[in-house]
Amino acid sequence: MMNLEPLFQALISEPAFRLKQAQHFIFHELGSDWSQATTLPPALRQRLSIDFPLDIDHKLYRSKDGRSIKALITLSDHAQIETVLMSHGGRQSLCVSTQVGCALGCLFCATGRLGFKRQLTPWEIVQQVLLWQRYLKDQGEKVTNVIFMGMGEPLLNYDHLLEAIRFMRSDDGFGLGSRRFSISTIGIIDKILKLANDEPEINLAVSLHATTDAVRAELIPFHENYTLAELRRALVDYLKLTKRKIMVEYIMIDDVNDSLDDARRLAKWLRGIICVVNLISYNDTGVYAPTPPAQIKAFKTELETLGLEVTQRYKLGDDIAAACGQLAGHDANS
Ligand code: SAH
Ligand code: SF4
Repeated sequence: MMNLEPLFQALISEPAFRLKQAQHFIFHELGSDWSQATTLPPALRQRLSIDFPLDIDHKLYRSKDGRSIKALITLSDHAQIETVLMSHGGRQSLCVSTQVGCALGCLFCATGRLGFKRQLTPWEIVQQVLLWQRYLKDQGEKVTNVIFMGMGEPLLNYDHLLEAIRFMRSDDGFGLGSRRFSISTIGIIDKILKLANDEPEINLAVSLHATTDAVRAELIPFHENYTLAELRRALVDYLKLTKRKIMVEYIMIDDVNDSLDDARRLAKWLRGIICVVNLISYNDTGVYAPTPPAQIKAFKTELETLGLEVTQRYKLGDDIAAACGQLAGHDANS
Protein backbone atom coordinates (compact mmCIF):
# COMPACT_ATOMS: atom_id res chain seq x y z
CA MET A 1 0.00 0.00 0.00
CA MET A 2 1.41 3.35 -0.99
CA ASN A 3 2.12 5.88 1.67
CA LEU A 4 -0.61 8.42 0.99
CA GLU A 5 0.19 9.75 4.45
CA PRO A 6 -1.81 13.02 4.39
CA LEU A 7 -4.85 11.11 3.16
CA PHE A 8 -4.53 8.57 5.99
CA GLN A 9 -4.10 11.36 8.53
CA ALA A 10 -7.20 13.12 7.29
CA LEU A 11 -9.19 9.90 7.60
CA ILE A 12 -7.66 8.54 10.78
CA SER A 13 -10.74 9.02 12.95
CA GLU A 14 -13.10 7.73 10.24
CA PRO A 15 -14.30 4.16 9.71
CA ALA A 16 -12.03 2.10 7.41
CA PHE A 17 -14.44 2.08 4.47
CA ARG A 18 -14.01 5.85 4.11
CA LEU A 19 -10.45 5.31 2.91
CA LYS A 20 -11.71 2.87 0.28
CA GLN A 21 -14.31 5.37 -0.84
CA ALA A 22 -11.79 8.20 -1.00
CA GLN A 23 -9.35 6.08 -3.02
CA HIS A 24 -12.12 4.99 -5.34
CA PHE A 25 -12.98 8.62 -5.97
CA ILE A 26 -9.34 9.54 -6.71
CA PHE A 27 -8.17 6.57 -8.78
CA HIS A 28 -11.32 5.12 -10.35
CA GLU A 29 -13.76 7.98 -10.73
CA LEU A 30 -10.72 10.17 -11.38
CA GLY A 31 -12.32 13.04 -9.50
CA SER A 32 -10.28 16.20 -9.10
CA ASP A 33 -12.58 18.08 -6.74
CA TRP A 34 -13.66 16.63 -3.38
CA SER A 35 -16.97 18.49 -3.56
CA GLN A 36 -18.00 15.92 -6.18
CA ALA A 37 -17.22 12.93 -3.94
CA THR A 38 -20.86 12.40 -3.10
CA THR A 39 -20.30 9.12 -1.23
CA LEU A 40 -18.55 11.13 1.51
CA PRO A 41 -20.26 13.34 4.11
CA PRO A 42 -20.00 17.09 3.35
CA ALA A 43 -17.86 17.91 6.41
CA LEU A 44 -15.33 15.25 5.41
CA ARG A 45 -15.21 16.51 1.82
CA GLN A 46 -14.49 19.95 3.14
CA ARG A 47 -11.67 18.67 5.35
CA LEU A 48 -10.13 16.60 2.55
CA SER A 49 -10.09 19.55 0.18
CA ILE A 50 -7.78 21.26 2.67
CA ASP A 51 -5.74 18.28 3.93
CA PHE A 52 -5.41 16.39 0.66
CA PRO A 53 -6.18 18.67 -2.30
CA LEU A 54 -6.54 16.88 -5.64
CA ASP A 55 -5.70 19.60 -8.12
CA ILE A 56 -2.43 19.14 -9.98
CA ASP A 57 -0.80 22.44 -10.94
CA HIS A 58 0.30 22.02 -14.55
CA LYS A 59 0.64 23.54 -17.99
CA LEU A 60 0.19 21.56 -21.21
CA TYR A 61 2.30 21.87 -24.37
CA ARG A 62 1.02 20.14 -27.48
CA SER A 63 3.18 19.02 -30.40
CA LYS A 64 2.15 20.24 -33.84
CA ASP A 65 1.40 16.71 -35.05
CA GLY A 66 -0.94 16.30 -32.09
CA ARG A 67 0.53 12.95 -31.10
CA SER A 68 2.40 14.01 -28.01
CA ILE A 69 1.61 16.34 -25.18
CA LYS A 70 3.93 17.40 -22.44
CA ALA A 71 2.82 18.52 -19.00
CA LEU A 72 5.04 20.73 -16.90
CA ILE A 73 3.94 20.12 -13.32
CA THR A 74 4.72 22.52 -10.49
CA LEU A 75 5.02 20.72 -7.15
CA SER A 76 4.13 22.14 -3.74
CA ASP A 77 7.73 23.34 -3.18
CA HIS A 78 7.67 25.03 -6.65
CA ALA A 79 9.99 22.41 -8.14
CA GLN A 80 9.02 21.52 -11.70
CA ILE A 81 8.89 18.13 -13.41
CA GLU A 82 7.80 16.94 -16.82
CA THR A 83 5.71 14.08 -18.08
CA VAL A 84 4.76 13.29 -21.67
CA LEU A 85 1.76 11.49 -23.19
CA MET A 86 2.34 9.80 -26.55
CA SER A 87 -0.62 8.40 -28.46
CA HIS A 88 0.51 5.89 -31.00
CA GLY A 89 -1.16 2.89 -32.64
CA GLY A 90 -3.95 2.72 -30.09
CA ARG A 91 -1.48 2.87 -27.20
CA GLN A 92 -1.41 5.66 -24.68
CA SER A 93 2.16 5.67 -23.43
CA LEU A 94 3.52 7.91 -20.74
CA CYS A 95 7.01 9.09 -20.04
CA VAL A 96 7.20 9.75 -16.30
CA SER A 97 9.79 11.53 -14.10
CA THR A 98 11.26 10.04 -10.92
CA GLN A 99 13.50 12.84 -9.59
CA VAL A 100 13.71 16.62 -9.76
CA GLY A 101 16.86 17.02 -11.84
CA CYS A 102 19.51 14.30 -11.96
CA ALA A 103 22.86 13.85 -10.27
CA LEU A 104 24.53 11.96 -13.10
CA GLY A 105 25.23 14.92 -15.37
CA CYS A 106 25.22 13.25 -18.80
CA LEU A 107 26.54 15.79 -21.28
CA PHE A 108 23.78 15.43 -23.86
CA CYS A 109 20.92 15.62 -21.36
CA ALA A 110 19.03 18.76 -20.33
CA THR A 111 18.01 17.19 -17.01
CA GLY A 112 21.63 16.36 -16.27
CA ARG A 113 22.50 20.00 -16.58
CA LEU A 114 19.94 20.99 -13.95
CA GLY A 115 21.82 18.95 -11.36
CA PHE A 116 20.06 16.94 -8.65
CA LYS A 117 17.37 18.73 -6.65
CA ARG A 118 15.48 15.99 -4.81
CA GLN A 119 13.71 12.63 -4.99
CA LEU A 120 10.05 12.49 -5.98
CA THR A 121 7.73 10.93 -3.42
CA PRO A 122 5.66 7.90 -4.45
CA TRP A 123 2.58 10.12 -4.54
CA GLU A 124 4.35 12.63 -6.85
CA ILE A 125 5.22 9.77 -9.20
CA VAL A 126 1.63 8.46 -9.16
CA GLN A 127 0.23 11.97 -9.68
CA GLN A 128 1.83 12.18 -13.12
CA VAL A 129 -0.08 9.08 -14.23
CA LEU A 130 -3.21 10.36 -12.52
CA LEU A 131 -2.98 13.61 -14.50
CA TRP A 132 -3.04 11.71 -17.81
CA GLN A 133 -5.76 9.29 -16.67
CA ARG A 134 -7.94 12.33 -16.00
CA TYR A 135 -6.98 13.85 -19.34
CA LEU A 136 -7.70 10.63 -21.28
CA LYS A 137 -11.00 9.93 -19.51
CA ASP A 138 -12.74 12.64 -21.55
CA GLN A 139 -11.65 10.83 -24.73
CA GLY A 140 -12.79 7.43 -23.48
CA GLU A 141 -9.16 6.29 -23.29
CA LYS A 142 -6.85 5.03 -20.55
CA VAL A 143 -3.13 4.90 -19.97
CA THR A 144 -1.79 1.63 -21.40
CA ASN A 145 1.99 1.90 -20.82
CA VAL A 146 4.24 3.78 -18.45
CA ILE A 147 7.96 4.22 -19.03
CA PHE A 148 10.13 5.88 -16.41
CA MET A 149 12.26 7.83 -18.83
CA GLY A 150 11.43 11.35 -17.75
CA MET A 151 13.61 13.47 -15.51
CA GLY A 152 15.98 11.68 -13.19
CA GLU A 153 17.53 8.24 -12.75
CA PRO A 154 14.72 5.88 -11.66
CA LEU A 155 17.00 3.27 -10.08
CA LEU A 156 18.46 5.94 -7.77
CA ASN A 157 14.97 6.47 -6.36
CA TYR A 158 14.33 2.74 -6.20
CA ASP A 159 12.13 2.41 -3.10
CA HIS A 160 9.77 5.26 -3.97
CA LEU A 161 9.54 4.06 -7.55
CA LEU A 162 8.61 0.51 -6.58
CA GLU A 163 6.12 1.76 -4.04
CA ALA A 164 4.47 3.87 -6.75
CA ILE A 165 4.42 1.01 -9.28
CA ARG A 166 3.02 -1.47 -6.76
CA PHE A 167 0.25 0.92 -5.88
CA MET A 168 -0.62 1.68 -9.53
CA ARG A 169 -0.71 -2.05 -10.18
CA SER A 170 -3.12 -2.74 -7.32
CA ASP A 171 -6.90 -2.68 -7.53
CA ASP A 172 -6.91 0.36 -5.24
CA GLY A 173 -4.78 2.11 -7.88
CA PHE A 174 -5.16 1.72 -11.65
CA GLY A 175 -4.92 -2.06 -11.93
CA LEU A 176 -2.13 -1.78 -14.54
CA GLY A 177 -0.18 -5.05 -14.93
CA SER A 178 3.56 -5.22 -14.21
CA ARG A 179 4.34 -5.66 -17.89
CA ARG A 180 2.84 -2.24 -18.63
CA PHE A 181 5.76 -0.64 -16.79
CA SER A 182 9.28 -0.05 -18.08
CA ILE A 183 12.22 1.45 -16.25
CA SER A 184 14.96 3.23 -18.17
CA THR A 185 18.36 3.35 -16.50
CA ILE A 186 21.76 4.71 -17.32
CA GLY A 187 23.14 1.47 -15.84
CA ILE A 188 23.05 1.23 -12.05
CA ILE A 189 24.34 -2.33 -11.94
CA ASP A 190 23.40 -3.41 -8.42
CA LYS A 191 19.88 -2.02 -8.80
CA ILE A 192 19.39 -3.76 -12.16
CA LEU A 193 20.03 -7.07 -10.39
CA LYS A 194 17.85 -6.09 -7.45
CA LEU A 195 15.02 -5.25 -9.83
CA ALA A 196 15.37 -8.63 -11.55
CA ASN A 197 14.92 -10.32 -8.18
CA ASP A 198 12.20 -8.04 -6.82
CA GLU A 199 10.07 -7.47 -9.92
CA PRO A 200 11.08 -9.71 -12.83
CA GLU A 201 8.03 -8.75 -14.89
CA ILE A 202 8.77 -5.03 -15.10
CA ASN A 203 10.54 -4.16 -18.36
CA LEU A 204 14.05 -2.79 -18.43
CA ALA A 205 15.50 -0.22 -20.83
CA VAL A 206 19.22 0.52 -20.72
CA SER A 207 20.61 3.82 -22.02
CA LEU A 208 23.82 2.64 -23.62
CA HIS A 209 24.76 5.44 -26.07
CA ALA A 210 28.35 4.20 -26.62
CA THR A 211 30.39 1.17 -27.62
CA THR A 212 33.72 1.99 -25.95
CA ASP A 213 34.46 2.82 -22.33
CA ALA A 214 36.20 6.05 -23.40
CA VAL A 215 33.22 7.43 -25.31
CA ARG A 216 30.76 6.28 -22.68
CA ALA A 217 32.77 7.99 -19.94
CA GLU A 218 32.85 11.18 -22.00
CA LEU A 219 29.06 11.22 -22.50
CA ILE A 220 28.17 9.77 -19.11
CA PRO A 221 30.60 10.82 -16.35
CA PHE A 222 29.00 8.23 -14.02
CA HIS A 223 30.39 5.51 -16.29
CA GLU A 224 33.77 6.01 -14.58
CA ASN A 225 32.38 3.77 -11.82
CA TYR A 226 32.20 0.62 -13.95
CA THR A 227 33.05 -0.75 -17.39
CA LEU A 228 30.98 -1.81 -20.37
CA ALA A 229 32.09 -5.38 -19.67
CA GLU A 230 30.62 -5.18 -16.15
CA LEU A 231 27.40 -3.67 -17.45
CA ARG A 232 27.12 -6.47 -19.98
CA ARG A 233 27.57 -9.08 -17.25
CA ALA A 234 24.77 -7.46 -15.27
CA LEU A 235 22.46 -7.66 -18.30
CA VAL A 236 23.30 -11.32 -18.81
CA ASP A 237 22.45 -12.01 -15.16
CA TYR A 238 19.30 -9.92 -15.45
CA LEU A 239 18.17 -12.01 -18.41
CA LYS A 240 18.84 -15.27 -16.59
CA LEU A 241 16.42 -14.16 -13.89
CA THR A 242 13.74 -12.45 -15.97
CA LYS A 243 13.93 -13.83 -19.52
CA ARG A 244 12.47 -10.48 -20.59
CA LYS A 245 13.71 -8.73 -23.69
CA ILE A 246 15.78 -5.66 -22.82
CA MET A 247 15.35 -2.38 -24.65
CA VAL A 248 18.73 -0.84 -25.51
CA GLU A 249 18.52 2.92 -25.99
CA TYR A 250 21.10 4.55 -28.22
CA ILE A 251 21.13 8.30 -28.90
CA MET A 252 22.74 9.03 -32.27
CA ILE A 253 25.32 11.80 -31.94
CA ASP A 254 27.22 13.08 -34.95
CA ASP A 255 30.82 11.87 -35.12
CA VAL A 256 30.75 10.67 -31.52
CA ASN A 257 29.05 7.27 -31.48
CA ASP A 258 27.52 6.81 -34.93
CA SER A 259 30.17 5.17 -37.14
CA LEU A 260 29.73 1.79 -38.78
CA ASP A 261 32.52 0.55 -36.51
CA ASP A 262 30.31 1.56 -33.58
CA ALA A 263 27.45 -0.43 -35.13
CA ARG A 264 29.71 -3.49 -35.39
CA ARG A 265 31.00 -3.13 -31.83
CA LEU A 266 27.43 -2.69 -30.61
CA ALA A 267 26.29 -5.85 -32.38
CA LYS A 268 29.21 -7.75 -30.89
CA TRP A 269 28.54 -6.42 -27.39
CA LEU A 270 24.89 -7.44 -27.68
CA ARG A 271 25.57 -10.94 -28.96
CA GLY A 272 23.63 -13.37 -26.77
CA ILE A 273 21.57 -10.63 -25.14
CA ILE A 274 17.85 -10.77 -25.93
CA CYS A 275 17.09 -7.18 -26.86
CA VAL A 276 15.71 -4.63 -29.22
CA VAL A 277 17.87 -1.62 -30.06
CA ASN A 278 16.09 1.72 -30.13
CA LEU A 279 17.93 4.40 -32.10
CA ILE A 280 17.06 7.89 -30.88
CA SER A 281 17.71 11.09 -32.79
CA TYR A 282 19.70 13.42 -30.59
CA ASN A 283 17.56 16.35 -29.58
CA ASP A 284 19.92 19.27 -29.85
CA THR A 285 20.64 20.68 -26.40
CA GLY A 286 23.51 22.79 -27.67
CA VAL A 287 26.42 20.47 -26.87
CA TYR A 288 26.62 18.03 -29.78
CA ALA A 289 25.12 17.77 -33.26
CA PRO A 290 22.57 15.15 -34.30
CA THR A 291 23.56 12.34 -36.67
CA PRO A 292 22.26 13.03 -40.21
CA PRO A 293 19.28 10.83 -41.19
CA ALA A 294 21.26 9.03 -43.92
CA GLN A 295 23.87 7.93 -41.37
CA ILE A 296 21.18 6.75 -38.94
CA LYS A 297 19.80 4.65 -41.77
CA ALA A 298 23.21 3.16 -42.59
CA PHE A 299 23.83 2.43 -38.89
CA LYS A 300 20.44 0.76 -38.61
CA THR A 301 21.00 -1.33 -41.72
CA GLU A 302 24.39 -2.48 -40.42
CA LEU A 303 22.84 -3.59 -37.12
CA GLU A 304 20.05 -5.42 -38.93
CA THR A 305 22.52 -7.14 -41.22
CA LEU A 306 24.27 -8.34 -38.09
CA GLY A 307 21.03 -9.87 -36.88
CA LEU A 308 19.70 -7.29 -34.43
CA GLU A 309 16.13 -6.09 -34.03
CA VAL A 310 16.16 -2.31 -34.40
CA THR A 311 13.53 0.38 -34.00
CA GLN A 312 13.84 4.09 -34.46
CA ARG A 313 12.15 6.38 -32.00
CA TYR A 314 9.84 8.70 -33.82
CA LYS A 315 10.78 12.30 -33.54
CA LEU A 316 7.58 12.80 -31.66
CA GLY A 317 6.97 16.33 -30.60
CA ASP A 318 10.29 17.95 -31.43
CA ASP A 319 8.55 21.29 -31.22
CA ILE A 320 7.63 20.76 -27.55
CA ALA A 321 11.17 19.74 -26.60
CA ALA A 322 10.00 16.21 -25.94
CA ALA A 323 13.25 14.95 -24.45
CA CYS A 324 12.46 15.38 -20.82
CA GLY A 325 14.19 18.11 -18.87
CA GLN A 326 14.28 20.55 -21.74
CA LEU A 327 11.16 22.39 -20.73
CA ALA A 328 11.88 22.67 -17.01
CA GLY A 329 15.39 23.75 -17.99
CA HIS A 330 14.03 26.50 -20.23
CA ASP A 331 11.68 27.80 -17.59
CA ALA A 332 14.38 27.78 -14.98
CA ASN A 333 16.79 29.65 -17.20
CA SER A 334 14.47 32.17 -18.79
N1 SAH B 1 18.09 8.41 -16.33
C1 SAH B 1 17.46 7.43 -17.12
C2 SAH B 1 16.05 7.77 -17.52
C3 SAH B 1 15.75 9.17 -17.92
S1 SAH B 1 16.88 9.89 -19.09
C4 SAH B 1 18.27 7.13 -18.35
O1 SAH B 1 19.22 7.86 -18.65
O2 SAH B 1 17.97 6.14 -19.00
C5 SAH B 1 15.81 10.56 -20.19
C6 SAH B 1 15.74 9.93 -21.55
O3 SAH B 1 15.87 10.95 -22.48
C7 SAH B 1 16.79 8.88 -21.85
O4 SAH B 1 16.29 7.88 -22.69
C8 SAH B 1 17.80 9.67 -22.61
O5 SAH B 1 18.49 8.81 -23.43
C9 SAH B 1 16.94 10.65 -23.34
N2 SAH B 1 17.59 11.90 -23.66
C10 SAH B 1 18.25 12.71 -22.83
N3 SAH B 1 18.78 13.76 -23.50
C11 SAH B 1 18.41 13.59 -24.78
C12 SAH B 1 18.64 14.35 -25.96
N4 SAH B 1 19.35 15.48 -25.93
N5 SAH B 1 18.14 13.89 -27.12
C13 SAH B 1 17.43 12.74 -27.16
N6 SAH B 1 17.17 11.99 -26.07
C14 SAH B 1 17.66 12.41 -24.90
FE1 SF4 C 1 20.28 11.57 -15.64
FE2 SF4 C 1 19.34 9.95 -17.57
FE3 SF4 C 1 19.82 12.57 -18.05
FE4 SF4 C 1 21.87 10.92 -17.66
S1 SF4 C 1 20.38 10.81 -19.36
S2 SF4 C 1 21.62 12.97 -16.75
S3 SF4 C 1 21.04 9.52 -16.14
S4 SF4 C 1 18.30 11.75 -16.65
